[in-house]
Amino acid sequence: MLTDSHTHLNAEQFNEDQDEVIQRALDAGVTRIVNVGFNRETIPGSIALAERYDFIYSTVGWHPVDAIDMTPDDLVMIEDLCKHEKVVAIGEIGLDYYWDKSPKEVQQRVFREQIRLARKLNMPIVIHNRDAHQDILNILKEEKAAEVGGIMHCFSGSWETAKQCLDMNFHISFGGPVTFKNAKQPKEVLAQVPLDRLLIETDAPYLTPHPFRGKRNESAYVRLVAETAAEIRGITLEELAEITTNNAIRLLGLK
Ligand SMILES: [Zn+2]
Ligand SMILES: [Zn+2]
Repeated sequence: MLTDSHTHLNAEQFNEDQDEVIQRALDAGVTRIVNVGFNRETIPGSIALAERYDFIYSTVGWHPVDAIDMTPDDLVMIEDLCKHEKVVAIGEIGLDYYWDKSPKEVQQRVFREQIRLARKLNMPIVIHNRDAHQDILNILKEEKAAEVGGIMHCFSGSWETAKQCLDMNFHISFGGPVTFKNAKQPKEVLAQVPLDRLLIETDAPYLTPHPFRGKRNESAYVRLVAETAAEIRGITLEELAEITTNNAIRLLGLK
C-alpha cells in the first residue's frame, strides 16, 4: 500500500501514455496518488485526473517560478477549488531562487498570500523550496504556517532545517534524490525524521530515482524510494509503505 504523495501525472511528458503510467503504479503497489496542480495550465488537468480516478487526489496552488503570472482571480480560483472533495492541500507553493522568471519579492508575496488562504480555509500546504531555506523558514514562521502544517516536498535541507520544519507541524517528504549514492545529507535526515512525519514521493516526471536516473520518472518508481527509505530505517518495505500511507491519510484526509 504505497502512496506517492507528490506527482505531476498530467504533465505533457505523460500525454501519450497516462493511463499505462497509472496502471503501472497500481501494479507496483501504489494505492494512493496525490497529483499536484500548480499553475493556470496544470490545475484543470490535475482536477480532471482526481475526478477520473478514485485513488488520485489533487492539490491546487501557485508555483513560485510562475508567481509573476498569478492574478487576484487565480487566487479566487484556488480558493473555490479548495471546496472540491478531491482537493486535499494548497500547493505546491514556496520559493525557488534557482530559476529567475519571478523576482524574489513577487515569489514571497504570492507565497504569503497562499499561506494566509490556507489558514483561512484550514488546508495543509505543500512547500516547494529550492535554494531558499532561510527565507522559507522565516516566512513560514511569520505567517504562522504551523496552524495548518503540511509537507516539505522533496526535502533537500539539513537536519537543522528539518527540525525547524517539524517544530512547525510539517511532514518531511523524500523523493528520487535520496536514492542517489552521493546523497549523504538526505539519507542522514531521513534516518532521523520521526516515523509519523515521514512521506515519500516521486515528483514525476522529474527527479527520477536510481537506477533510472536521467529517464522520465513515474509514480511506480515511488517503490524505489520506499526501498531506500526502509533500508535506512531498518524496517521492511511493507512497514515503510504502511507508515507513510497512514501519514498521508491522516494529514490529507485521504480515503
Ligand atoms: Zn516542487
Ligand atoms: Zn512538484
